[in-house]
Order: sequence, then structure tokens, then C-alpha cells
Amino acid sequence: MIPGSFEYHRPASVGETVDLLARLGEESRVIAGGHSLIPMMKLRLAVPEHLIDLQSVEGLKDIAVEGDDITIGAMVTQHRLIESEALAAACPILRETSTQIADPQIRYCGTLGGNVANGDPGNDMPALMQALDASYLLAGPEGTREVKARDFYEAAYFTALNEGEILTAVRFTAPSAGHGWAYEKQKRKIGDYATAAAAVLLTLSGGTCSSASVALTNVADTPLLAEEAGAILTGSRLDADTVDRAAKAAAAITDPAEDGRGPVEFRRHLTAVMVRRAVATAQTRAA
Ligand SMILES: Cc1cc2nc3c(=O)[nH]c(=O)nc-3n(C[C@H](O)[C@H](O)[C@H](O)COP(=O)(O)OP(=O)(O)OC[C@H]3O[C@@H](n4cnc5c(N)ncnc54)[C@H](O)[C@@H]3O)c2cc1C
Repeated sequence: MIPGSFEYHRPASVGETVDLLARLGEESRVIAGGHSLIPMMKLRLAVPEHLIDLQSVEGLKDIAVEGDDITIGAMVTQHRLIESEALAAACPILRETSTQIADPQIRYCGTLGGNVANGDPGNDMPALMQALDASYLLAGPEGTREVKARDFYEAAYFTALNEGEILTAVRFTAPSAGHGWAYEKQKRKIGDYATAAAAVLLTLSGGTCSSASVALTNVADTPLLAEEAGAILTGSRLDADTVDRAAKAAAAITDPAEDGRGPVEFRRHLTAVMVRRAVATAQTRAA
């Protein structure tokens, strides 16, 4: 319950944050909504000597929907993702996923940046960002760079974020008008991380699936893009046999942990169930 002591810093710009990280080194951590980091600090699983609070950093709380280009600042909270009508119109799966994250109080504080940078496979946004083929904008001592969500996750809590870098925003192209979407998450109770979850985005053309992307949450050390599942669905009429094959292809790439959520086989089986349900819902929503 009691974290270790630390120095608190509140920079006003990305440049100042990056300079602080360089100066304070390994023992410093940025803090966003604090709803993953503070619990870890209370358990002393994280013992940073310096906390660099991103709350006052200019420009990190912006949401920009410009035509198909969507850019969401790292400090946009889950609550604001749900609230934004512009985001809901351009990319409704963001709202659907956000409402399944944690609970209202956590969503007032927890941020998109923290959720995707955290590296916990339990977080829901990373797989969604893989399904959307989003890019993460990173700023560090060497300047800025962009890394695809599909390339960002290496293992539990290991990401492509280099020491001294912060994530400033997430950017993606809105799925095309009339697309179908669904985020299906099986969990034991409100605020639980998924036993298994699937994000599905697809488009239909005359009843045939013209594109599909499928990504999975909390069934491996990292989020998983189920490429084969997407490929099986694409070009099909989403008949039961094809969807079943896609669901099984998705389940086949999982490597879930055995924990209080159940044994490996159960979580793998559930992955296929989530994919089937998400495809069915997405199909009904596609125009
Ligand atoms: C009871 C409970 C239930 C929850 N349930 C869910 C759930 O079902 N699904 C889900 O997805 N999440 C869940 N969460 C997590 C919650 O959504 C967190 O808010 C989120 O994972 C992290 O966001 P944050 O802004 O709080 O980040 P913080 O806790 O502030 O930071 C998390 C980590 O990310 C790093 N970080 C934060 N921002 C940046 C940045 N801009 N650049 C680089 N590194 C950064 C920090 O240094 C830290 O290592 C739950 C949390 C709690 C306490």
C-alpha cells in the first residue's frame, strides 16, 4: 500500500520531459493516469526515484479527426475517448473497447498513452491499435520517430520504446465508411483484464468480405495480430465454416498464461469464441 519515496517533476513540454528523462536516467519514470504505475509502486514492484508527471505537458491531450486522419494525444483519458462524438463517428470501435476497460473512476484517469505504452498484455488498447494498424509517435533524445503498433510489443512489459523516449500520440487512418467492427471481451467481472478478447474490423462489398483485421488481447505475452484469421475471412461471404476456420486460426497463435482466469486450453478455446462473436457482430454492423 505504501510506495517508496520519490521526487516529483511536472514538465510543461515534450522537450522538457525528454531532457528530464535524459538527466535523471534509469531511476525515473513518466506517469500518466497513474492507474497501472501507482498500483505497482504500492506493491513496490516499481520503485522509481523520480516521477515525471505528464499532466501539464502541452499538446498531449488533443484529439484530432481530420478527414480520415486520426491523431490522439497520449494523455487523452479513456473517459474522453468514450465521450468524443467525433471519434465515435469516425471509429466506433474505440468507444466500444474503452467502455470495457476498467471502471468509471479509472477511465477518468487512465490514458491511451499509458494503456498502450505500459506493455501489460492485459491492456485492451494495444490489440485494438494493431487491428487498426495504428502508429505510435515517440519523442526522445534523438528526435521523433514512428513505430507501428504491430511492431511495438516484444514481450510482457518489453516494447520498442527506448530508454529516454515517451509516446506522444497515436495515429491511424479511420476505417472506411460502412465498415463493421466489434470488440468482444470475456472477463470475470467489471474491471478485470480479459480472459480473452478479440478486436475485429471488416468491410463488406456485396455480401463478400473485402477486408478484415483481427487482433487478440491477453492470450499471449503481447497483443497478437491474427493475420491468418484476417486472410481467411477476406474474400469469403463470412459463412459459418469460414468464420470457424478463421477463429481456429486465431486460437492457434495464442500462448495464454494459466492463471485465475483459467487453464491454457480454456483461454485458447475462448479466443475462438470471441473471434466468432466479434465477426458476427461486425458483419451485422457493416453496411
Ligand atoms: C482495477 C483496475 C482495472 C483495470 N482494468 C483494465 C482493463 O480491463 N483493461 C485495460 O486495458 N486496462 C485496465 N486497467 C489499466 C488502466 O486502464 C490504466 O490506466 C492503463 O493501463 C495505464 O494508463 P495510465 O495512464 O494510468 O498509465 P500509468 O499508470 O501512468 O503508466 C503506466 C506505464 O506506462 C508508462 N507511460 C505512461 N504514459 C506514457 C507515455 N506517454 N510515454 C511512455 N510511457 C508512458 C509509465 O511510465 C508506466 O510504466 C485497470 C487498472 C486498474 C487499477
